Amino acid sequence: MRVDIAIIGGGIAGLSCAAYLAPRASVIVIEAEPTLGYHATGRSAAIHTECYGAELIRRLSLASRSYFVDRDEPLGTPLPVLFVAAHDNTDAVENLYNAYHPLVPTIQRLSPEEVTALAPVILPRMTSGGILEPGGLNLDVHGILTSFATTARNHGCRILTGSRVSEITRNPSGWWMRAGDRDLTAGTIVNAAGPWGDAVATMAGIEPLGLTPFKRSAFTFDPGVPAGDWPFVVDAAEQWYMKPEGPHVLGSAASEIPQAPSDARPDEIDIALGIERINESTTLAIRSIKSQWAGLRTFTPDRTPAAGYDEEGGGGGFFWLVGQGGYGIHTSPALGATAAGLLLDGSVPENVARYGVTAEMLHPGRFR
Ligand SMILES: Cc1cc2nc3c(=O)[nH]c(=O)nc-3n(C[C@H](O)[C@H](O)[C@H](O)COP(=O)(O)OP(=O)(O)OC[C@H]3O[C@@H](n4cnc5c(N)ncnc54)[C@H](O)[C@@H]3O)c2cc1C
Repeated sequence: MRVDIAIIGGGIAGLSCAAYLAPRASVIVIEAEPTLGYHATGRSAAIHTECYGAELIRRLSLASRSYFVDRDEPLGTPLPVLFVAAHDNTDAVENLYNAYHPLVPTIQRLSPEEVTALAPVILPRMTSGGILEPGGLNLDVHGILTSFATTARNHGCRILTGSRVSEITRNPSGWWMRAGDRDLTAGTIVNAAGPWGDAVATMAGIEPLGLTPFKRSAFTFDPGVPAGDWPFVVDAAEQWYMKPEGPHVLGSAASEIPQAPSDARPDEIDIALGIERINESTTLAIRSIKSQWAGLRTFTPDRTPAAGYDEEGGGGGFFWLVGQGGYGIHTSPALGATAAGLLLDGSVPENVARYGVTAEMLHPGRFR
């Protein structure tokens, strides 16, 4: 089989790119696991915030919002984000406000009383105030992934699951690869392999970028009180967070534990740390959990994604789409569309460029 573009990785990165490419090129998505979104994509906290991460991330988040909400059946529902400054973190409110207000003018500073009015379980003596981002969203990750996959398939994209790419060779007619038990050739490879991005590059004879996967564990618990109208509550120094999840609450210590690419398993000590931190700051007395899981958040050396052709090492036709870190779901519409634009004609789409995103900011050459 021959295609214009083979995308390696059937997570949110690969499928968002496929959705925007498929109308304009012949595309195949190749996923090692039997199901799409099995790794980081299926294990996220499903939050859209425009007040998280480096400025480029926040610009991509702003440019992505419309994909989730401007449709008949929205893929995200309103869930304000409440950043809680700890009692001894007195500069946090001003620091966060100054950092985020220029791009998100709707954010508000809150007094300790306003914080506890929104999240009554926060101990008043444990907070010095907060920031409220009214425009946060609770995302339907399965719906978003399905939306991208459906758009791609409707434009003729093939999606192979259970087909790990195990061998890649550059030859005069393009990239030959072994995917599961199939052979195929592509003019261009898109490396959307998440934590395995450097391994896929090495397989293709391309120098790795220096990606680091970090494990984050999460759990759910019964709060013992109604939590349905809480915002997403996150410690301003990202020491813990919690989010209403049906009758339960999702919690995490928000840790970053370096780990080799793998099927991540929850870390008992990290789960205990999350419980301890939440118990310290709230009236919740979590003693048992309902469920637990972990996933890998993969970062480039500057903690912003890489999207662009590799220009070193004679890697013609090798395109990186990696390093989505902890923001890959809520940046996926803008990053997928931008990757497709950069792949096909080297341009950032107007609806993303409008937010100040340029090809240079994303170019993997910055790590060489
Ligand atoms: C606990 C947690 C909470 C998070 N919360 C949020 C949040 O609230 N909001 C947000 O936006 N983001 C969040 N994230 C981050 C988000 O989940 C990731 O940024 C995103 O899922 C990365 O997507 P990806 O497609 O790059 O990677 P992945 O989903 O890991 O997909 C990569 C795919 O490539 C495949 N692959 C690898 N090698 C090969 C090969 N050789 N052949 C074929 N296939 C291959 C893998 O099987 C995998 O399916 C969170 C992550 C975690 C772990």
